[in-house]
Amino acid sequence: MAREEPTEYGFDALRTRRCECGAADCTAIIEMSWAEQDEVDHGAPELWILAPGHEPQGAQSWRVVRESERFVVFEVEEAS
Ligand SMILES: [Zn+2]
Repeated sequence: MAREEPTEYGFDALRTRRCECGAADCTAIIEMSWAEQDEVDHGAPELWILAPGHEPQGAQSWRVVRESERFVVFEVEEAS
């Protein structure tokens, strides 16, 4: 009997998550695969995933560590 994985649980299936830029009026939704999320979530906590064109709010400095057409990963140094 074949066991079918629901596509929404597939490792390469796109999942949606909120943009983490921190802007009060940001409602952007990002699509990422599990593999992509896994890579970032297991990285440093200062990695923020933002929608393209958004900038980290309240950050002292940042640099882009990864960019795709769906999202941008920033390494953020938060203002103390
Ligand atoms: Zn945003």
